[in-house]
Amino acid sequence: MFADCPVCGSEWPLTWDPRGKGTDFCAHCGNPAPWLSRKELIQWLKAGVQATDLEPAKRRELQEALDRIAELAPDDSKTAAGWDKLRAVAPRVWELAKPVINVLIGEGVRKILRL
Ligand SMILES: [Zn+2]
Repeated sequence: MFADCPVCGSEWPLTWDPRGKGTDFCAHCGNPAPWLSRKELIQWLKAGVQATDLEPAKRRELQEALDRIAELAPDDSKTAAGWDKLRAVAPRVWELAKPVINVLIGEGVRKILRL
């Protein structure tokens, strides 16, 4: 049973969803719930990129890289360059991804990125 946020430890607010599911993000720190799919998480990272103060061209470039990543398997080595770019250009968005990095990036690619 998932009750507390693994990042900040605050209680996860439950919704009135009949499945008894909680909200998709921690109300306190914004950490994503463990039941979100990889595609949903990538959409969330794209929103994170949008919220940065990077210039629009850079934001677009990163969002396109995330779109490409979403279409590839987590373990596809072609995703490594996109993740590397995100880490270099938008380190704050990369920090957001860290708690769910195992969902987002397959083991082989994590090795390439030295994670
Ligand atoms: Zn939290």
